[in-house]
Amino acid sequence: MNSSTTQSSSPSSSRLPQNAPGEFYVTADCIDCDLCREVAPDTFRRHNDIGFTIVHRQPMTPDERASAIEALAGCPIEAIQRDTQSPESIH
Ligand code: SF4
Repeated sequence: MNSSTTQSSSPSSSRLPQNAPGEFYVTADCIDCDLCREVAPDTFRRHNDIGFTIVHRQPMTPDERASAIEALAGCPIEAIQRDTQSPESIH
C-alpha cells in the first residue's frame, strides 16, 4: 500500500509556522538533506534562520504540484506532509 501521499502524523510531526499556508508543509523533523529543494525548487526552500526546509510557496501549476508530491514521496524521514483538509488538496 502506498500511503506516501496521505497524511501520516506522528507526535513529532508539527507543522513549522514558517510554511506558507496551504496543503503542503514541512515539519520540524526535517534533516535539511536538500532533496526536496532539488526536486521541487519552486515549492521548497531552505529557511536559513531555522535551518530547515519550508514550503515557501504552495504549488501553483500541475507540474509544480507533481514535483511537490515527488518530493514528499522522496523525503527520507517523511518530514513533508499534506493537509488533506486544505481547500487546495482537492485541485
Ligand atoms: S527532503 Fe525532507 S528532510 Fe530533506 S530537506 Fe526536504 S523536508 Fe527536509
